[in-house]
Amino acid sequence: MPMKIEGGPFKARVEEALHNDFMRGAVRRAQDGLRGRKLAATNEDRDFEDWEAWRQAGEAVRRHTIENLDYYLEQLSENVEARGGHVFFAATAEEATAYIRQVVKAKDAKRIIKSKSMVTEEISLNAALEADGCEVVETDLGEYILQLDDHEPPSHLVAPAVHKNQAQIRELYAKKIGYTATEKPEEITAHTRKVLRETFLHADIGITGCNFAVAETGTVTLLTNEGNADLATSLPKTQISVMGMERLVPTWEDLDILVSLLSRSAVGQRLATYVTALTPGREEGSVDGPEDFHLVIVDAGRSKALGTEFQDVLHCIRCGACINVCPVYRHIGGHAYGSIYQGPIGAVLSPILGDSDAFKTLPFASSLCGACTEACPVGIPLHEQLVAHRRAIVEDHGEAPWFEKLAMRGFGAAAAKPERFARAGGTVRLAKPLARAWTAEREFPAPARTTFRKWFEERKGAGR
Ligand code: SF4
Repeated sequence: MPMKIEGGPFKARVEEALHNDFMRGAVRRAQDGLRGRKLAATNEDRDFEDWEAWRQAGEAVRRHTIENLDYYLEQLSENVEARGGHVFFAATAEEATAYIRQVVKAKDAKRIIKSKSMVTEEISLNAALEADGCEVVETDLGEYILQLDDHEPPSHLVAPAVHKNQAQIRELYAKKIGYTATEKPEEITAHTRKVLRETFLHADIGITGCNFAVAETGTVTLLTNEGNADLATSLPKTQISVMGMERLVPTWEDLDILVSLLSRSAVGQRLATYVTALTPGREEGSVDGPEDFHLVIVDAGRSKALGTEFQDVLHCIRCGACINVCPVYRHIGGHAYGSIYQGPIGAVLSPILGDSDAFKTLPFASSLCGACTEACPVGIPLHEQLVAHRRAIVEDHGEAPWFEKLAMRGFGAAAAKPERFARAGGTVRLAKPLARAWTAEREFPAPARTTFRKWFEERKGAGR
């Protein structure tokens, strides 16, 4: 099933993750580092004027784009085609992979290079192309590491191999590609660069995702820190870019706002090291760039959110900032979610884009603290959407955890009459020992020593 990653049910995954001290330590360090850098590049960066004003501007761009999605998709598609590119609208993941396979087959392509792309993970593109006998090589360092490790799924939107340390990566390289140097990041990176350079030079097709497509010119833009998207789009003669249908902006001015928000929110940079802009149509005299360009625009469940209370989730720019502040992700890491989209955004997005039944536990994997909403650079009310999902799941499936049903029934009975409510106040203290399963992994809030009514009566009696 697209989007779902192999493994047992959610509870079993969580159990496993909670016992993986190494992974939890790695996730904690990564979260702290990414979050710290984001704060330094936003609230603490005096040159950045007012972060809240930028955030509101970003939200306004995303809202306007999604509310006029049909208009801008048409404009984008017309501009790509006017410059000689091909556009394919894929209603489903299967349609998207079928189109790409057909392009690959028509070119008789055998070696394909890719730059990081979540939408191609979503549609399981690598598996489909490999089944056709192609060699598909990921060129983002994190994705390359995971690919070497028997196609391990990503555990973070922006830092896919965040759960691994240097020693593990060194061991993996030694086993899979005969690496003999040390575990120093610069040596590992230099070796990866050498291996990938060869691959780039002999690739038949380059496949990329798309951070934002600019509708007014038909341009695909990509942000990287490694320059791999630059090479993937300039060396092979054929280029395929795959984008979720919401990943566009009307103008270059709008792009300016979103690139700034994305760079700062994702990794705490003022601007990503490389911002690659690819407009189809190789100009006369150009020595590089694709001769044949295909843009695959993927729906695959996105239109289900349009016009519903979940529409705002389409504003997401995949920065991962919500993941970096999430206390639940901090404890269970990315793989426990069972989806290629993790953390708060994964818990909202997965039931919409994937099989809602398969992901119906995810919206409950949240403390609803609202840290994700506060961190989101485009103001998506994530915690409200999680509550909306919970409501929909309970209504559609008639399912709520048994203890919640029991507690709500008890509360309803107690709250119906004032005298019952007063009596019930005292019995809440008895709940602590009964909630052992719940308190095994969380703090139970300490009940007040006395009830409010009793406290009030005492103070009134004492004339206070
Ligand atoms: S929901 Fe917001 S914070 Fe989370 S990945 Fe999307 S844009 Fe970033």
